[in-house]
Amino acid sequence: MTAPTPHNPTHRHPLPPKLPADIETPAYVLDVELLKRNLATAARIKKEAGVKILLATKAWAMPAAFPLMRDVIDGTTASGLYEALLGREEFGKEVHVYAPAYTAEEVDELTYVADHIYFNTPSQIARFLGVVKEAGKQIGIRINPGFSMATLGGDLYNPCAPGSRFGTPADQLDQVPWDDIHTLHAHALCEATHEGSAGLIAHVGKTFGAYLRKVSAVNFGGGHFVNKPGYDIAKLIASLKAFRAEYPHLEVILEPGAGLVVDTGYLVSTVLDTMRNGSDIAILDTSASTHMPDVLEVPYRPEIIGAGEAGEKAHTYILGGKTCMTGDVIGSYSFDQPLKPGDRLVFTDMMQYSFVKNTTFNGTPLPDLAMLDEDGTYRVLKRYGYQEFRERLG
Ligand SMILES: *Cc1c(COP(=O)(O)O)cnc(C)c1O
Repeated sequence: MTAPTPHNPTHRHPLPPKLPADIETPAYVLDVELLKRNLATAARIKKEAGVKILLATKAWAMPAAFPLMRDVIDGTTASGLYEALLGREEFGKEVHVYAPAYTAEEVDELTYVADHIYFNTPSQIARFLGVVKEAGKQIGIRINPGFSMATLGGDLYNPCAPGSRFGTPADQLDQVPWDDIHTLHAHALCEATHEGSAGLIAHVGKTFGAYLRKVSAVNFGGGHFVNKPGYDIAKLIASLKAFRAEYPHLEVILEPGAGLVVDTGYLVSTVLDTMRNGSDIAILDTSASTHMPDVLEVPYRPEIIGAGEAGEKAHTYILGGKTCMTGDVIGSYSFDQPLKPGDRLVFTDMMQYSFVKNTTFNGTPLPDLAMLDEDGTYRVLKRYGYQEFRERLG
């Protein structure tokens, strides 16, 4: 066994010791023991800092595991109607929802489903204030704090990048009807260290005091990568306590997704065939584009238990997916032994943002499938509702 090294999940978890050898693949597998370890971190933050913690279901939604989380986690935060319904029906605690824009139909339904509805702009608030107030739900405004220390993917994951559509910029905050606002929401981080978290908290406290004094709660969003090795929880707790000392009237909320489920599970796959075309190639029963799209979109390199960088071990392979898309390549990895059909490969850290095709990322409703007949008749062949979304999550 290799000594543990931070930032390398492969070495932290040399093998998933209890994983049966004969499972059918491909499979995303939650490791409950590791989830419980992560939940202990959340429990500590809540207890010592006196804050609420919500699960952002955008990053990970496995309803069968929600009962394990309910004791610690205060509820869920959704990116749209389907996730809000999931939070209401399957988690059963507070339901918060934010989307860059809502349709009137969505807001109507959300007034039944969600407790807190966050809006992106003063114009969306102006449009929906009446109906949300009537329903007695709490209203939040997402601001663009003009601060970010997102560590992933450059501006692809930086909500405060130039031209970003996320949140009302500081120079327009005077257009917000603050008397009706319950929560000021500032999500600006992605896979941030404690320095990012503490930086955002201090920045919001320093810059938006005039507005913080008008509201009842502040939500520092997600992106706090609290269970990543190297993240100093004590520093987060200290900065939350300092903020709370300055604004004692505010309830403080964090809504991490990835930080709650980082390193808690696997994608288990099987080698189907090997071949040579200049290099050795192995074809797997899993696919980057279908099962781990972030590998192509971020892009990033997932870890495989027991594998090394290209050239590090004796046998290097290009790992390719079982689709007919040329770019469906996971990367080059090396192994101690040659790969052969039937070999099991275990990708680690495969809970956060991995099964986004099951969740249709953010629970975004799939478009209708329709046909336009020659006589101009328009026929909807299939409409995908909440039920299809829910069923794909087990
Ligand atoms: C994505 C998102 C989160 C969760 O982010 P993580 O990086 O998974 O912690 C929380 N809040 C909002 C508004 C988001 O868009």
